[in-house]
Formats: sequence, C-alpha cells, structure tokens
Amino acid sequence: MWQKLQARLEQRKAQDLLRQRLTIEGAQGVRIRAEGKEYLNFSSNDYLGLANHPKLNEAMQKAAKQYGAGSGASHLIIGHSDQHHALEQEIADFLGTERALLFSTGYMANYGVLTCLPEKNDLIIQDKLNHASLIDGGMASPAKMLRYAHADMDSFERQMKQPADTRLVVTDGVFSMDGDIAPLPELVSSCNAHKASLMIDDAHGFGVLGEQGKGSLEHFGLAQQSADIYMATLGKALGGFGAVVAGNELLIESLIQFGRSYIYTTAMPAAVAAANRAGLKLIQEESWRRQQLKMNIDYFRRLANEYDIPLMPSETAIQPVLIGRNDKTLAVSRALKEAGILLVAIRPPTVPENSARLRVTLTAEHSTDDIDYLLEQLSAEINKANQQK
Ligand code: PMP
Repeated sequence: MWQKLQARLEQRKAQDLLRQRLTIEGAQGVRIRAEGKEYLNFSSNDYLGLANHPKLNEAMQKAAKQYGAGSGASHLIIGHSDQHHALEQEIADFLGTERALLFSTGYMANYGVLTCLPEKNDLIIQDKLNHASLIDGGMASPAKMLRYAHADMDSFERQMKQPADTRLVVTDGVFSMDGDIAPLPELVSSCNAHKASLMIDDAHGFGVLGEQGKGSLEHFGLAQQSADIYMATLGKALGGFGAVVAGNELLIESLIQFGRSYIYTTAMPAAVAAANRAGLKLIQEESWRRQQLKMNIDYFRRLANEYDIPLMPSETAIQPVLIGRNDKTLAVSRALKEAGILLVAIRPPTVPENSARLRVTLTAEHSTDDIDYLLEQLSAEINKANQQK
C-alpha cells in the first residue's frame, strides 16, 4: 500500500496538483495573518463577515463558561443540550419548516440523508457539479444514482424517465466552484409533475440569498416547502460551524432514527450552538450585510469586465476567474500571495480537467479599495502568465 501511495503522491506533484495547507495565525476576516504576514483574504466563505463578530464570540464564551468545551456524547446519548434544541427550533421558525435537525458538519448531513432515506429500488438524480458530500452519499446509498449534465434540464428530464419506485432529485442551491444558482423553478415544477422529492444543499445560499437571507428558494420567490429536504451549513454566511437539515416531521424523525452520520457522532459543543444562534440572529437583524455584499459583487464584476478578466456567469459571492491550465493558475495564485493577496487555486479533481480557476469569494466586509487592488494585481499577473508560455 505505501509504495502505491508514494507513487500516487508523486504523480500529483508532477501534475502541479498537490494540495497544501496554509496555517492561519489568528481570526478569520478580510485581513488575515499567516506566516508572520498580513494578507488580503479573497478565499473564505465568511460571506457576511460574521466569523469573528463580537456577538458570536461573546455568545460562545458565555456558553463555554456554562456548558464547558466538550459536548460529551452524541445527540442520542447525552450530548443534546438546550442550546442545540433552541437552535433547531429557531432555524425551523426562520425557514418556516416543521422541524430542523443539527448535524456536526455539512458533509455528514448530506451523507447521512442520502445513505439513509432512499432505498434499493429508488433513484437518486443529481446535478453533475453537486458537492462531493452529495456524490459520496449517493454512491454509498442502496439506491441507484444517476447524474445529469450541469443545470441542463434536457439531460435532467432524460434521467427522470428511468424506471424507479421513487425519485429523489438533489441539487446544490449555489454551486460551490462555479457560483451559479440552480434552475430551481424548473426543477421544482418538474419534481411536482413527476411526484419526485427534491433536496437542496444551500451551503452557499443560506443567509446570503433572498431578501431575508432564507436562501436560494427565497431568491426565486419559491416557498420553502418546494424542497422536501433543505440542507444548510452554519460555517459559511452564518459565521459559526455545523449544519442543519430542515423539513417536515417525517423527514427529521427518520434522520434521527436511521441517519448513521447523525447517530454515531459527537454533538457539536453547546458553545458552538450558542455562537450559531447569535449568527442566525444577525442574519435576520442586519440585512445591510446582504446589501453590502451585493454591491461588492456588482462592483467586482463591472471592474473585472473592464480589465477583461475571464469571469464565469455567476451573480453570487463566488466569482471564479477561469484560467484553465494548472501551472498557470498556480503561478498567478503564488504571485498574488507575494503581492499580499490570498486567492487559492482550485484544480482538478475538485473541478473538471483544464478548468483550473482562482475562486474569488467576496464578503460584505471587503471595501472597494480591496477589490480595486485585487483586480489590478490579478489582471497584471494573468497577463504575465499568458506571456510566459
Ligand atoms: N455542501 C457544499 C455545497 C459545500 O460547499 C460544503 C463545504 N465546502 C459542504 C456541503 C460541506 O459542509 P461542511 O463544511 O459543513 O462539512
């Protein structure tokens, strides 16, 4: 095994595909410290600037004093505290669903849903660009998984014609590496026509999209109940950590009884749940953060077009700059780091071959000066990389 692993690692390295971690020294934010230097950060999912907000920090500290650091056990043993319970109720109230259930991570929420709900003669039908946790859950499910071409309704309808007892359609609300929003009105109406169930992973829509921040369904003016299963992560716009699945009583009770990634894992600490509650409150009270983010997105796109920077058709905080080749993408990312900007290169297998990109993520906390500096440097470095090879 070890020899084979060594060969695999070497192959990755030769293809410029080796992943590397950067060790952050201090809190998240638009300005972030690493390796003894301050950087301008365009790589985080902290879309509303809440990850280091005093209200979340205070809630977490206060709860840690009362509840301690660890949760001690899984939810079904003795790990489920009144902080978790209140958070679930508050999320269900916010979204207008019967119930909501906390998971320790979004990965586990998606995996848990897909491995425990559909059965042997059922079909799971997924967008090809869905998050890895949905694809992994679909592969591990006893149901058969089919995938359709990204956001392509013709391809989708072809897959829906395959025979099955029941169908579960699964889509990201906002696609994490492209930034585009799923064609939810079309998917909802087709699911209704075929009596199929719909699951939305709104990791990048929850808190950000829609006037009240309820996510991608609200963005389209669709009722929350249009999705049978709604998953949101709490570690992105909300500024905390963990995930939630929202829906009706039958869904939530089934997950509690059958969801192995729910049952067999330690509950998130109560202090984290308390921070999440503070984040949820700010999402509701401070809509100016969504408006500020929207202004930053519009400003970024307008200016990037003036610089002729190759953008993708995204109207969300995720604004990938498509470069193509791995080596070029890495070269630009490294040069930007030298210029004090953190903009991480996203390469295969996370994205398809020859579509390596720099995934710019904007937050409500970026200033127009920050965006000006990014685009000035980005344009210069892309030009340099294009001239070299
Ligand atoms: N779904 C999507 C679309 C995501 O982008 C992510 C996080 N990268 C997840 C699920 C997983 O969430 P978590 O980080 O909480 O495991």
